[in-house]
Amino acid sequence: MPLSEEIAIALRKCNRCGFCQAGCPIYKVTGVEWETARGRIELVRSALLDHNLELKDIDDPVFHCLTCNNCVEHCPAGIQTADIIFGAREEIRRRQGNSWIQKMLFRKLLPNPSLLHSASRLLRLADVTGLRSAARKTGLTRLIGDAGKAEAIVPPAPSSEGLAAIARQVKKIENPKHKVAYFVGCHAANLSPAVAAATIRILHKHRVDVVVPEFVCCGLPAAGYGDADSARELARKNIDTARALDVEAIVTPCGSCSSYLKEYGKLFADENEWPEKAADFAGKVKDLSEFLVDIGLNTEMSTVRKKVTYHDPCHLAHFQKIREQPRTIIKNIPGVEFVEMAESNMCCGAAGSYAFNHYDLSMKVLERKMDNLAKTSADILVTNCPGCVMQLAYGAKKHGLPTRTTELVELLDLAYHTGDDEP
Ligand code: SF4
Ligand code: SF4
Repeated sequence: MPLSEEIAIALRKCNRCGFCQAGCPIYKVTGVEWETARGRIELVRSALLDHNLELKDIDDPVFHCLTCNNCVEHCPAGIQTADIIFGAREEIRRRQGNSWIQKMLFRKLLPNPSLLHSASRLLRLADVTGLRSAARKTGLTRLIGDAGKAEAIVPPAPSSEGLAAIARQVKKIENPKHKVAYFVGCHAANLSPAVAAATIRILHKHRVDVVVPEFVCCGLPAAGYGDADSARELARKNIDTARALDVEAIVTPCGSCSSYLKEYGKLFADENEWPEKAADFAGKVKDLSEFLVDIGLNTEMSTVRKKVTYHDPCHLAHFQKIREQPRTIIKNIPGVEFVEMAESNMCCGAAGSYAFNHYDLSMKVLERKMDNLAKTSADILVTNCPGCVMQLAYGAKKHGLPTRTTELVELLDLAYHTGDDEP
C-alpha cells in the first residue's frame, strides 16, 4: 500500500530545527546532514510526497538509517523516525520488488521454524567442517562484499535441536504464581539455545509456569527490509497461536522481539477483525526484565564479583522506554560493581543485519561504542538483544578489549545457580 496517512502527516510535521543531530549515531560518525532524521525526512518527503526526487535519490538516506529512534528522544515534535523509514522502505520495495533472497527468507524460512532450523544447521556444518574458516582464509568471503566482511560477526554456531528441544526443558511448577508463554525468537531457537535454557530456569526460579508455543519470527526483519506484507503474515500466525493459550503474559528476553511484538496493534489499521486481536496480543507482551521487576525479582542469588556495565538495546530503550529494569536486576546481584557507560543508549551499529549491507558504517558506529566501553574497564558488558551481543562481542575482540559480552539472562542465571564462574 502507498505511504499511510500517518506517515504523510509525520513527514509534514518536521520543523527542521535540527535537534535530532544530537542523537544520531550515523551523523556522529559521518557529519553528513542527510544522515540526520531532518535530512532523511526532507528527502523522503521530496521523493514520496512532493515527487521532486527519484526513488534512487533516497535509497542511501533510507537504507543507511539504523532505525534506532535515538533521534526521537531529541525531537520536540515527537516524530517517530523509524516508522517513517519503514514506511519509505515499504514504498520502495512496493515499486521495485524484493530480491529472491529476501522472498526466500521472509516468505519461506521465517514462517516455518523447522525449515529455518534446518537452514541454520548449514551454518553449523560450515563451522564443524572448517568450510567457513577456509572461505575466510582464502579470501572467498571478500567476493560477496559487505556480507562477506560481516560474516565474522556471527560466532560459530552451537549444537542446537531447535524449538522442540527448548520446550522439553520446561518443568512442572508446584503452586505456580504466574503462567506465561515464552516467545523464544529465531536467534535463541537456532543460534543461542543456552539463552533459551537460562530464560526457562529464571522463570522457574520465580515460580512461573512456562509454555513454549511454536511462535514464528516476530516479523521485524521483514519489516526492516520493507516487506510489510510478510511481517503482517508472520504477525497473524503469532496472534493465532497465542489465542489458543491461557497465559497472563507473552515474555521474551530479546529486546527487538518484544519491541516489535508490542507494535502488532499498529500493523492492521486498514483491516477489519485484526486490529482488536493484534492489540490484545500486543497488550500481553513483556520484555523479560520488565516482567521480572513487575512480579518481584527473586533476590536469592550467589555472589558474582565482577565489574559490570550495560548497553541499552535501541528497541528496549527508545521504543519501549525500558532502561531501569535491566539495571535494577544487575544491581541486585550481590558482588556486582555496576559502572555506567557513556552513551550507553547509543546504537552499537548492529541494527538487525545492518553490517551485512553497510559494514564500514556499522564499524564506525561500533568503534565509538568500544571507546566508551574501554573507559569503563568493565569485566562484563551486559545487554539484552542477541544482535547487540554478537556485534559487541565482535567489537571487543576486534579492539583487543578483555571485556566479556553476555546476555542479561546469562548473568542472572549465573547468579541464581553458581555465582562467580564466567557466564
Ligand atoms: S533512527 Fe537512528 S540512525 Fe536513523 S536518523 Fe534517527 S538517530 Fe539517526
Ligand atoms: S528534531 Fe524532529 S522536528 Fe526537529 S529537525 Fe529533527 S526530526 Fe525534524
